[in-house]
Amino acid sequence: MSSAETSRSIDTVMREERLFPPPEAFSHRAHFKSLDEYEVVWEAAAADPPAFWEKLAREELHWFEPFTETLRWNEPQSQPFVAEWFVGGKTNACYNCVDKHVAEGRGDKVAILWEGEPGDSLSLTYAELQTEVSKFANALKSLGVVPGDRVSIYMPMTPELAIAMLACARIGAVHSVIFAGFSAEAIADRNNDAGTKVMLTADGAWRRGKALALKETVDEALAKSATVEHCVVLKRTGQEVPWTEGRDHWWHDLMQEASADCPATPMDSEAPLFILYTSGSTGKPKGIKHTTAGYNLYAKKTYEWVFDYQEDDVYWCTADCGWITGHSYLVYGPMAAGATCVMYEGAPNHPAEDRFWEIIEKYKVSVFYTAPTAIRAFIKWGDEHVDKHDLSSLRLLGSVGEGINPEAWMWYHTKIGGERCPIVDTWWQTETGGIMMSPLPGAIAAKPGSCTKPLPGVIPKIVDEQGAEVGADQGGMLTVAHPWPGMLRGLWGDDDRYKEVYWSKVPGKYLAGDNARCDSDGYYWIMGRIDDVLNVSGHRLSTIEIESALVSHPAVAEAAAVGRPHELKGEAVAVFVTLKDAEPTDELRKELKLHVRKEIGALAQPDDIRFTNSLPKTRSGKIMRRLLRDIAAGKELVGDTSTVEDYAALAKLRDDEE
Ligand code: ATP
Ligand code: MG
Repeated sequence: MSSAETSRSIDTVMREERLFPPPEAFSHRAHFKSLDEYEVVWEAAAADPPAFWEKLAREELHWFEPFTETLRWNEPQSQPFVAEWFVGGKTNACYNCVDKHVAEGRGDKVAILWEGEPGDSLSLTYAELQTEVSKFANALKSLGVVPGDRVSIYMPMTPELAIAMLACARIGAVHSVIFAGFSAEAIADRNNDAGTKVMLTADGAWRRGKALALKETVDEALAKSATVEHCVVLKRTGQEVPWTEGRDHWWHDLMQEASADCPATPMDSEAPLFILYTSGSTGKPKGIKHTTAGYNLYAKKTYEWVFDYQEDDVYWCTADCGWITGHSYLVYGPMAAGATCVMYEGAPNHPAEDRFWEIIEKYKVSVFYTAPTAIRAFIKWGDEHVDKHDLSSLRLLGSVGEGINPEAWMWYHTKIGGERCPIVDTWWQTETGGIMMSPLPGAIAAKPGSCTKPLPGVIPKIVDEQGAEVGADQGGMLTVAHPWPGMLRGLWGDDDRYKEVYWSKVPGKYLAGDNARCDSDGYYWIMGRIDDVLNVSGHRLSTIEIESALVSHPAVAEAAAVGRPHELKGEAVAVFVTLKDAEPTDELRKELKLHVRKEIGALAQPDDIRFTNSLPKTRSGKIMRRLLRDIAAGKELVGDTSTVEDYAALAKLRDDEE
């Protein structure tokens, strides 16, 4: 390979040869039963994406008025580039998720199985959900909420949070869910950006047995949120709260007065459904705008395909509704499919480290969807917590949020999945609305660490800096070549940033911001963020491969790799490592360097290894490499830190000498 070529693509140093075909019994009843079947559908969809989605939209959504045009897409000439789907139609996302099931005789099916952190629980059928949502929709109307108004939601993971989202959708209000751990400043920023009219919160939230003062935080935020007229407060913990007469209303008071008669408002296909801010891994969070019909269809179909939805499933997605995963795969996807969803309020280690396994046993969960950060924590906490419980109800496992290191994948597969459950490693983003790449679990054999293949209707292309497609096994920037119904429709109130971030580098294709490679079997491997590539002696290396090599050492729990300036090499590899229960010695440091060298080669061998008790993460649990890069370079922290989970841990890392 010439040096010019080397500098254009990203080198891959990791080789993962293990292959896990779907168990026969699983494929037998799956939606997609074989690779051939998947390929036929994918090819047909790729040949004519609008025709593929048009048929599904007509069959799967309820239309008050049918749409007249499937896709309006003025190719790159008319930037900023917003695709419109199912133009001219009228539907309602809440109707599709709730009323449709009641109308079709499935009202008695359980929609939500809720488990509170202190151990209280509640179950709601689709018919009951319809009543609650209708009442709360009327409550919102009584506060003057009309279609297009923005409603911010800062609530604990209670059924009322899902009810609030669906109630907004029912009357055409645009929700903006803010994770109930963010600061007053972060809430005010989001309220002001969205022009929020009504704010929903609770007195408090349970977190590891302590009551967090949500209402107090919201009050502080509202002092700086000029557009907010009303605040609705759910009683959850029963703690004392500050109160502003006229502005504040108890949830239960409004509900008592509200009628349960509130038909869903027919909404334009392209009416905004929600705004959701990204995790902030790579910079200041972006306010992603999603609209009604395309998003709803995409969430539904991808849920059914990837989680191989079966009528008798008990499905549990552990994500908070403050993230896109909670939107698409706790509310809009599974509920549009009519699934029974477990929803859990609290922490995975309260009262003990086996809480998740206890919940799986209690509710006989069959499909479980969580994040690599959680899986790495489970591994660190030890197998004894898992061993106490019967997990035989599980049939399928999922992962989302970051790349899953192959060794963590293996643990998930053996320890949680009992070697019988396929794992779906799902790659997607807040922007994409739903899963873009994932194994279809009955059809596509898994390779640990690969999100395998694109879903039907998704056409990924990996390109170099010049926008030209790279060959097999060459790393480059991941783009999507054709619009899909779940894609974002812009950044709220910021067309320039929208254009700049997604459409300026590679003309005509959606730029995801991640690097990837596609192997000779057509399997995709996410290699990390575009901004995080390391440049060592002219070789461009991906973060995840170095991290996965470290995680494969028995002493290592988590690792983050970044580049730091180096006179000779351009950049040196600096890694931050948390250990399981090993001692952080110089000897171990040497051993880890050699381990990486042996696993993936001398080029990737770390120059610096720093042991730490925790890595800086976003509130959604993703490692924030951009901050570690500053620390490794000995620089002040300059980037946006509003989404860091534990600022004190970060500051300590900065202040610690190596
Ligand atoms: P910001 O855009 O503000 O920097 P973010 O990108 O972390 O934050 P999200 O939309 O929550 O915000 O996360 C999407 C990103 O998460 C993807 O671009 C990718 O980097 C990562 N990701 C998600 N799932 C996977 C996966 N299965 N494998 C690898 N990476 C993943
Ligand atoms: Mg992002």
